[in-house]
Amino acid sequence: PAPDPAAGRAVHAADRAHVFHSWSAQGQIDPLAVAGAEGSYFWDYEGNRYLDFASGLVFTNIGYQHPKVVAAVQEQAAQLCTFAPAFAIEARSEAARLIAERTPGDLDKIFFTNGGADAVEHALRMARVHTGRPKVLSTYRSYHGGTQQAINVTGDPRRWASDTGTAGTVHFDGPHLYRSPFWSRTEEQECARALEHLERTIQMEGPATVAAVILETVPGTAGIMMPPAGYLAGVRELCDRYGIVFILDEVMAGFGRTGTWFAADLYDVVPDLMTFAKGVNSGYVPLGGVAISQKIAETFDQRPYPGGLTYSGHPLACGAAVATLRTMAEEGIVEHAAHIGETVLGPGLRELAERHPSVGEVRGVGVFWALDLVRDRTTREPLVPYNASGKDNAPMAEFAAAAKRAGLWPFVNMNRTHVVPPCTITEAEAKEGLAALDEALSAADAHTAE
Ligand code: PLP
Repeated sequence: PAPDPAAGRAVHAADRAHVFHSWSAQGQIDPLAVAGAEGSYFWDYEGNRYLDFASGLVFTNIGYQHPKVVAAVQEQAAQLCTFAPAFAIEARSEAARLIAERTPGDLDKIFFTNGGADAVEHALRMARVHTGRPKVLSTYRSYHGGTQQAINVTGDPRRWASDTGTAGTVHFDGPHLYRSPFWSRTEEQECARALEHLERTIQMEGPATVAAVILETVPGTAGIMMPPAGYLAGVRELCDRYGIVFILDEVMAGFGRTGTWFAADLYDVVPDLMTFAKGVNSGYVPLGGVAISQKIAETFDQRPYPGGLTYSGHPLACGAAVATLRTMAEEGIVEHAAHIGETVLGPGLRELAERHPSVGEVRGVGVFWALDLVRDRTTREPLVPYNASGKDNAPMAEFAAAAKRAGLWPFVNMNRTHVVPPCTITEAEAKEGLAALDEALSAADAHTAE
């Protein structure tokens, strides 16, 4: 489409006058006015096009405007736009069936929510009612959503401002060898020590008070730390031993991002509850949910579940999910994500790390990668400090600005950039993105000791 700067200015002006944005100092932001998007790209009103290495907020797993999903939403809108949750509706039934078919083990019942945070809220409520216990254990390096309980179990600094209602939340350290809280030298040590630490936490809190352990299968926003072999199996075993509900949060990691339907498939682990959102329908219409094991579903067979939502299983959102899941299967999109990770992104990012002193570590799988940026590769001092305010963030801001000048929209969180494009990204697009990252990393290198 032809550029239309005047239209862009009107969109921007109305935004600045009336839209209150997430997680931002409203007077310090300058949101880009976006005119459209397709596949792996979006563009502004000035004629600039960006390769989206952030997939929005890591949710457009199938890319923007996939014609099959757009058509399914249009057809569902024409057939039945909306309906109350207490009825059996074709799109909802079929979405639940397709999700249950893919979730691990006996996670065969689906409770639909509007997004990830409320999925986490409901999973925690199910665990507390099921066990009759009050506490929830979660890791410091985690993000579980912006509602009150979900932000309390979140570990990252976005939690700090809402730490007023933390009753029942206990944080512990998960494994993270590059920045090991346990002084480990190998993945085996890190795994063993992290499991010892979790067991000690459970014992000190009192096992009979702990309802749930909630973990992101692969922590996402907090840094894409692949858990070492044996860690998730070890947590599963601890939860079984102490009668604790094991919740895996797959809101970000699920539906193809790791090159498998769920990250849990990589580790052959089956939780008691699994939360999902984002990739389930690539965010075309808001949708999330909890996949529930037989054991926990049985708790609510004869006893009402104390919770619900007006839009639980909204037909438009479920219609989008049905089309997304069918298309991902038909077009081999999950396998493609695994392949592009193995053959292009993984090798390409490791090659960048060799040449750029600001890259401390590359980690990830599929289309789920993080570059941990440092001032000094020996001390591993982060390129910017760990804080909630964005203070002293200039080196990362310069990196992001350089990426955008090179036509790449990056995902940036603290001292990391995440390479999280759509699962549908082509080899040529991935290479184009790596070339732009190469340019942008030079801006980060300028702040290193080397
Ligand atoms: N859980 C995880 C792992 C997430 O990454 C997110 C969002 O980024 C959420 C929960 C919250 O999801 P939502 O923003 O849809 O409420």
